[in-house]
Amino acid sequence: MVIVLFGKPGAGKGTQAPRLAAALGVPILATGEALRAAIREGTPMGLAAKAAMDRGELVADEVILGIVKETLASAPFANGAILDGVVRTTPQAEGLNRVLADIGRKLDAVLVFDIADAEIVQRVSGRLVCDKCSAPFSGRAPGESCDVAGCQSGQGGGTLVRRKDDEPEAVLTRLEQYKAKTAPVLEWYGKNGARIATIDAVGTVDEITNRAKHALGL
Ligand code: AMP
Repeated sequence: MVIVLFGKPGAGKGTQAPRLAAALGVPILATGEALRAAIREGTPMGLAAKAAMDRGELVADEVILGIVKETLASAPFANGAILDGVVRTTPQAEGLNRVLADIGRKLDAVLVFDIADAEIVQRVSGRLVCDKCSAPFSGRAPGESCDVAGCQSGQGGGTLVRRKDDEPEAVLTRLEQYKAKTAPVLEWYGKNGARIATIDAVGTVDEITNRAKHALGL
């Protein structure tokens, strides 16, 4: 199964992706995560993407489609994927369809996380991530130890930090980019016959997982 998780930054896609991936038995492709890994490793792609990412702007479609093509054609993705944060522009939607056609697959559904801007700003301002494993946290303080299994500080693990693009100014830029470039993609999907399932993205993590599974018929 190939599922696109779609929604504003901070809508909860990254929190739900591992749960849905486990339910479906397919891996996750998160372009934001792939780009952050490239920045940590200091690759040319990471260096080129960093400034735009820090400002909350989108990275070029060709870069994103390069990651998508390489990842989806790799062996671990042979049975499908959960796409988290991919498809943020119409050219990316067109490119994804081409990549899927080339490998004999198709998009099964676009799962839309519906949430108001005010809720996003509040949510993201309280969000921290592990600097090693990128797991998201809320209700915790910067500098605390990550407690994901195998990633505790002191065991070579991570520390909780605020992402640069979760600073208030970058969040507003990301919401503007969403409205200008990403929201129109849903219209494109509607016209191109994709199955679109929309869920209310406000609730507990478990509630939202249940809504997502129900919407996907799992
Ligand atoms: P995310 O972790 O999904 O919130 O992505 C963090 C940042 O990475 C975004 O604000 C963009 O700068 C960049 N990025 C991730 N995925 C994409 C994409 N599909 N298209 C363009 N930029 C992206």
